Amino acid sequence: MTVDRLLPTSDGAELVKLVREIAQAELAPRAARAEEAGEFPREAFRLLGRTGVLSMPYPEQWGGLDQPYEVYLQALEEIAGAWMTVGVGVSVHVMSCHALVHSGSSEQQERFLPDMLGGDLLGGYALSEAAAGSDIASMTTRATPAGDGYLLDGAKAWISHASQADYYTTFVRTADGRRDMASCFLVPADAPGLTFGAPERKMGMTASTTGSVYLDRVEIGADRRIGPAGSGLRIALEALDSGRLGIAACATGLAQAALDCAVDYARERQQFGRAVADFQGMQFLLAEMAAAVDTARAAYLMAARKRDAGRPFGRDAAVAKLTASDAAMRVTTDAVQVLGGYGYTRDFPAERYMREAKVTQIFEGTNQIQRLVIARQLLGSRSNSDQTDSSPLGASRRNPY
Ligand SMILES: Cc1cc2nc3c(=O)[nH]c(=O)nc-3n(C[C@H](O)[C@H](O)[C@H](O)COP(=O)(O)OP(=O)(O)OC[C@H]3O[C@@H](n4cnc5c(N)ncnc54)[C@H](O)[C@@H]3O)c2cc1C
Repeated sequence: MTVDRLLPTSDGAELVKLVREIAQAELAPRAARAEEAGEFPREAFRLLGRTGVLSMPYPEQWGGLDQPYEVYLQALEEIAGAWMTVGVGVSVHVMSCHALVHSGSSEQQERFLPDMLGGDLLGGYALSEAAAGSDIASMTTRATPAGDGYLLDGAKAWISHASQADYYTTFVRTADGRRDMASCFLVPADAPGLTFGAPERKMGMTASTTGSVYLDRVEIGADRRIGPAGSGLRIALEALDSGRLGIAACATGLAQAALDCAVDYARERQQFGRAVADFQGMQFLLAEMAAAVDTARAAYLMAARKRDAGRPFGRDAAVAKLTASDAAMRVTTDAVQVLGGYGYTRDFPAERYMREAKVTQIFEGTNQIQRLVIARQLLGSRSNSDQTDSSPLGASRRNPY
């Protein structure tokens, strides 16, 4: 089903239409088999890289398409609707470039960005650790000054594209305590001392490799540190605000795909001598699913428009991520219900959509953390009274996520 979209320009509308055609022709037909086999879709990223999709929101000067977030996110929604692993992968790649685009020196930008945005390279974003998930300021992976650069030691966990990416935008501790304690480094995948754990065995998105990244005395030149020493958490969180919009768009695309699947099935399936779509009980369920999808889309577009207008959008991004991921969970679960017993089998995509939806409530800040972000924006420092007070981020962003 084609979504009736509003786009700010005719160029934007053409672009989203083109991405939809590519996604439906090249991605959707491959998704189920690759997910079953757990095959990482490196070719799909190359294809999207060649068409400019991997660098859509970034400046033309470095090879991007210079599109507003309002356009990029709607294109991303189309990709995720065709194949969630690829949609989330595009969002992760875009987030991996954010630090350099927004906080890199002009020398670093000229040196690294054309390759990162050119479409051939794929990035990863390495923030989480096994014991530092929601509480990222408790990270222990460390960079120690050595010669002209640093030695990196420790382990990052849950990293999307681990062992598949060409570089990792990596956040490590450079000072003790919880304030100004992290720095951001651009770590090439072939750096000596960098190794990877076995991929996690996940509930869904099984074609997307998620794993640990081990750093054992990895030598990194100071010219690969992005932003001043100590600015790492600020850089990480700015990227996450935008990244959450990507996850919200992916969750919306997944929910739309589940709705389309349910509507098609309900029209075809006959019980009691007529299509199950003729029963009002079924119509109400489908109508509620549609309302949830539309609300999710409206939430991420509101945040995107604020971002495009240069306005603060952190709270809106948290609302969008919370709203869209909860909508995805509910709509995909209802889609399984609409399909009845067939919904519970792997003959239809509904059960895969449901498994894929769950993680959108967990990564890039769990939905509990999104509620904290929203509450803190509403209440300011008052809401922090019951929380640990040593965050590096000040009262308004006391919890790192
Ligand atoms: C498939 C997948 C891909 C991922 N990709 C990446 C990636 O590319 N890069 C990366 O850096 N990370 C990645 N992550 C990690 C992800 O961001 C973390 O899993 C997430 O932030 C939660 O951290 P945690 O798993 O350690 O949970 P925990 O922080 O241990 O949380 C456990 C539970 O406690 C709750 N909780 C924690 N603190 C609070 C609080 N203050 N108030 C209320 N409830 C709270 C949480 O909501 C959760 O329900 C990925 C994770 C998954 C599953």
